Amino acid sequence: MSSVQNVRFFSGENIPLEMHKVRVVQKLSLPPIERRLSAIREAGFNTFLLNTRDIYLDMLTDSGTNAMSDAQQGAMMQADDAYAGSQSFERMHAAVNEVFGKEYLLPAHQGRAAENIIAKSFIKPGNTIPMNYHFTTTLAHIDLNGGKIAELLYDDALRLHSDNPFKGNMDIAKLRATIAKEGAGNIGFIRMEASTNLIGGQPFSLANLKEVRKVADEYKLMLVLDASLIGENAFFIKQREAAYQKNSIGDILREMCAQADIVYFSARKVSSSRGGGICTNRKDLFDHMKVLVPVYEGFLTYGGISVREIESIAVGLRETLDENVIGQSPSFIDYLARQLDKAGVPVVMPPGGLGCHINAGEFLSHVPQEIYPAGALTAAFYIISGVRGMERGTMSSVRDENGNDVFADVELLRLAFPRRVFTLSQTKYVEDRLKWLYTKRDLIGGLRFVEEPPMLRFFMGRCEATSDWPEKLVQAFRADFGDSL
Ligand SMILES: *Cc1c(COP(=O)(O)O)cnc(C)c1O
Repeated sequence: MSSVQNVRFFSGENIPLEMHKVRVVQKLSLPPIERRLSAIREAGFNTFLLNTRDIYLDMLTDSGTNAMSDAQQGAMMQADDAYAGSQSFERMHAAVNEVFGKEYLLPAHQGRAAENIIAKSFIKPGNTIPMNYHFTTTLAHIDLNGGKIAELLYDDALRLHSDNPFKGNMDIAKLRATIAKEGAGNIGFIRMEASTNLIGGQPFSLANLKEVRKVADEYKLMLVLDASLIGENAFFIKQREAAYQKNSIGDILREMCAQADIVYFSARKVSSSRGGGICTNRKDLFDHMKVLVPVYEGFLTYGGISVREIESIAVGLRETLDENVIGQSPSFIDYLARQLDKAGVPVVMPPGGLGCHINAGEFLSHVPQEIYPAGALTAAFYIISGVRGMERGTMSSVRDENGNDVFADVELLRLAFPRRVFTLSQTKYVEDRLKWLYTKRDLIGGLRFVEEPPMLRFFMGRCEATSDWPEKLVQAFRADFGDSL
């Protein structure tokens, strides 16, 4: 992939050229490695529990951390404060209508709140929810409502290094087999997630989504689209699916949403602020869900979102249609992933949306899943760089009824690229430190839980190192880098 804007370089290099300039900045600092070691220890080796004071680059997530545009900030100044009937909500409604092509909108305070309402409205105990792949909060809500999931990716989708452009596709034969096995009456709905988060931000193709729609029609099942990362998925469709290369991002987005009965999203990812929403063209579904919104979220015209944020969502959604906006993060991820791949560092290929994903299972092939290689790599990388990534592996998974870890299919360190936040030199710093760490990988050991919450344990769980490997890593860093930060 060349830079989003079609600018060719004399050197022949693929440099992701920014189509924005920086006008407001936030000061950063890089604490010395000894402080970083203490900080991660205080945080129980869980990067969620670090304070940004101790962080140089925060690549934990793109959730609520994208840079805002001047247009978004301008709109926020003109918000209409009202409990009911706010004009700000009208503007968000109009943007959803234009971008997603859906007439009815229910606001929710974030993506998981939308999942709560959908799960409570459409899942009966014992139901199965076929999906391409789960997301952590989705699984929690399905579980809380007595449902279970069936993950139906193609077998090769979990091969981390491949040239499969659409690893997020659903295996249609598996979908049919699941419906036959469970009976259509026991399927709550079919769920497709755009830019499949937990397998490395990997997209599905429009052709595949249309196949899923066909099966849904055949069995009169509802198709729910998790559109939290839909912009990136649309961008990849344009880049990678021959039939859509001439279409605009807007056309592709509407075509994707047209396949689904219900589209929901986390506005934390879509724009940069807070909030989320559920939209549909079916009044019966809207009426069925709307009764829950005042109970859990707030009145139907704010849903737990501040009016200022509602204004920024409206503008942010429309900005998603601009290829230079939506392509910024994927093109930086592409750059970093290819540099690492060239150097032999195990990285998820092809690069996806959301972040650069390091294959921790291979990076730390000597660390068994019982002692959490992805968690250990995430902590180790923070120690040696001050860069905060997120564990996406067995720590982000659950335990079975016997209390044993359900090993994750893939062990990943995710380095998120919030939109328009980091520069290329910062990206090169990440590349440099990862390459160094790879040469010292044998020093890294595992982690074990000392405090483990029963649900979504990765958020608040605390661990300790299985040996003195963190100290050894600090010594190796000092030996190679002297008094460098
Ligand atoms: C972030 C995310 C969610 C949950 O959204 P929140 O706003 O964080 O609650 C759901 N699905 C996907 C695919 C996401 O990336």
